Amino acid sequence: MSEPVPSVKGWCPGALRPMRSGDGLVVRLQLTAGVLSAPLARRIAALSERYGNGQIDLTQRANLQLRGVSDDTWPELIGELAALGLIETDAEVEAVKNIVASPLAGPGWATTVDCHASVAALGAAIGTDPVFRRLPGKFGFVIDDGGYWPLDDVAADVWFVGRDGRFDIEVPQAGGFVRLGTVAPDAIGAAAAAVAQAFLDLRGDGEGGARRMRDLAARIGAAAIADHAGFSAAGHSERPARQARRSIGAGGPLGAGAYLGLGVVFGRLTAVSLDWLADLAKTAASGELRLTPWRSILVPGVDLEISERLLAGAVAAGFIVSPEDPRLVVVACPGAPECESAAGPVREDALALAEVAAKMVGRGVRLHVSACPKGCARTQPAAATLIRRHAGYDLVVNGRADDDPVSTGLQPQDIEGALRRLKAIEGQSIG
Ligand code: SF4
Repeated sequence: MSEPVPSVKGWCPGALRPMRSGDGLVVRLQLTAGVLSAPLARRIAALSERYGNGQIDLTQRANLQLRGVSDDTWPELIGELAALGLIETDAEVEAVKNIVASPLAGPGWATTVDCHASVAALGAAIGTDPVFRRLPGKFGFVIDDGGYWPLDDVAADVWFVGRDGRFDIEVPQAGGFVRLGTVAPDAIGAAAAAVAQAFLDLRGDGEGGARRMRDLAARIGAAAIADHAGFSAAGHSERPARQARRSIGAGGPLGAGAYLGLGVVFGRLTAVSLDWLADLAKTAASGELRLTPWRSILVPGVDLEISERLLAGAVAAGFIVSPEDPRLVVVACPGAPECESAAGPVREDALALAEVAAKMVGRGVRLHVSACPKGCARTQPAAATLIRRHAGYDLVVNGRADDDPVSTGLQPQDIEGALRRLKAIEGQSIG
């Protein structure tokens, strides 16, 4: 088997084309709709220890990445993953098969449409229709069952949102979404191909060409995209973004049962913590884990009578169990030494700032700490973004890591004061 080729900027790491990082190769698995059985979780944990460094990322697309894989052991790992059905056979397909689905999708849960069959149909279309291979590497699709957990805040390009047994086809525009048309679940592959073709035809060539659907919609309007894709003008309508829900703690009943939602600090699991989750799923729940794009894992089918005891165990295993935990409002990339592009480590500073971030104005993630302007941990704007430089942190307000900063050279002890001066912190009582 040939040597792995490091990924190019703008592409997500895969298994066949892993990203080279400071701690070795990063190998992304292909999990269907974020569903992970207990035996498979246990197997992945074992592979992470055997071929990697025991560190596993839970990604923003509800996927897993094994870290610390060496060039020498990578070919054998690929063989093991292929036997488990966890990789594609084609690196080009792997690069664009980016589908995020509702975390509790599937029979038995209280949702408006079962999207698992549609995930499979879209995955098959991406694997066979060459139009998808021409999309930019980070282009992604959402299949939202229209149920309890809206997926509006996921970094993606085309949304299929369940409604009355069909899917609305939507693209983001001006902070909300525009419906291009509707499609039956079994026709989702053809609809996705039509939207992908419209994007490719309309995005423009060269450096100035749009790489994301929201950029194209902002430039020419979603209606033009719908027209080009062949959807009737009568089907166009706008809707505001739906509020994200918390997925942490004990919840339910929800359709077929209750669940535990466990937060994963900075999306970083270990072989030990994944093994612990597999045990929990097998011994006290339905035997399955559901990965979410919000750095949390759902354990469905638990008995709420014993949830307090299970949550106490989860705390001991290093998971976040309270929706009020300040670590939930901070995101940070791995930084140094794991990433070679990093200006330094960032996660320790991010944890130290979590209490401050929890008191900032806003909802959801409020503070993004990045070790370089690429901003891998969050592509959307945040109330405050800190970008590590060799001389200190740059601070961007209501923007992304590559936006212009309002302050530069901030030391960690200066950051709270800088946020106060910008009136980004509620009240005056922190100190
Ligand atoms: S944002 Fe962080 S993880 Fe991404 S390239 Fe920069 S330093 Fe590396």
